[in-house]
Amino acid sequence: MSSKLLIIERVVDLKKILADKKNRSVGFVPTMGALHNGHRTLIERARAENDFVVVSIFVNPTQFLEGEDFSKYPRTFEKDHEICRLANVDIIFLPTVNEIYKSDDISVISPIKRGYILEGFSRPNHFNGVLTVVLKLFNIVQPTKAYFGKKDAQQLILINQMVQDLYLNIEIVPIDIVRDRDGVALSSRNVYLSQDDRIIARAIPNSLISASKLIMTGERNIIKIETHIKNELKNLQIEYVSILKRDLTQIDQIEMGNSIILIACKVGGVRLIDNLWI
Ligand code: AMP
Repeated sequence: MSSKLLIIERVVDLKKILADKKNRSVGFVPTMGALHNGHRTLIERARAENDFVVVSIFVNPTQFLEGEDFSKYPRTFEKDHEICRLANVDIIFLPTVNEIYKSDDISVISPIKRGYILEGFSRPNHFNGVLTVVLKLFNIVQPTKAYFGKKDAQQLILINQMVQDLYLNIEIVPIDIVRDRDGVALSSRNVYLSQDDRIIARAIPNSLISASKLIMTGERNIIKIETHIKNELKNLQIEYVSILKRDLTQIDQIEMGNSIILIACKVGGVRLIDNLWI
C-alpha cells in the first residue's frame, strides 16, 4: 500500500527515492494528464501488480506537430492529483519541459515503415517524440512493468518494438480500451466535443461493432470490411480506416486473433482515434 502521495518535479529527486526501492517492483504509468477513467484503469492495474507506483504527468512537446494543440492541451492537475491519491499512487512525476529536454533534440527515431503510417502519416515525426520521451522516462523510472492503453494501438506496438529492439528490461502491459456509456473511447480530447459532435462521434465505436458482426458472419475480406466501416462513418471526416496485422503489416484477409481495425476521424475539428483488436 502507498504512503503519502509525493509530487516530484526533478529527475535527481526521483532517482534518489527510487534508489531506495531496490528489490521492490515499480509499476509505471506514463500520461499527459487530464486523467480520466481510462488512465485510472491503467493506474489501478499498476497498483495491483507492484510494490511501488509512479505516474508521470508530462505534456510532451516533441510529439505535437506545429499548429497542434500543445499549448491548449487540457491541464487539470488538481483533479489528476485527486485521482492518483484515491488510487494509492506513490509518486506523481511532474517534470517541466526543461527538466526532460536539455535541447529540443530527438534521441529516438521511429521505425521508417511502422512509424510513418496511420498516425505517423498525418503527423510525421509524432512517434519520434513519443519514443524519445518514453525512453527517457523508462531510463529515469526504471520500472519493472509499464502500462499502456490499447486505445493508442500504434503507440503500444511501437513501444513494444522499441523494448524488444533495445533489449530494455521492462514488461509492457497492454490495457483494454475503456469506453464511456455511449461507447465512445475515453480520451482527454473528448472535452472539446460539443453535445452534437458527441452524438456524431458514437458512429466510431458503432462502426467497429458493426464490423465485428460482419466478421462474425464469416466475412474476411479487408476491402469489403473497410468499405463497410467507411459507409458507417459517412457523416464524419475520415482520416483513415485501416485493417492490418497486429505488427502493422498489410493483409488481404482478416487473420483471426492477429488483426486490428484502426480508425481516425475528425468530428467538429476534434481528432478521435479508436480501434478493435480481432
Ligand atoms: P495520454 O495521457 O493520452 O498520453 O494517455 C496515457 C495512457 O493512457 C496511454 O497509454 C493511453 O493509451 C492510455 N489511455 C488513454 N485513453 C485510454 C482509454 N480510453 N482506455 C485505455 N487506455 C487509455
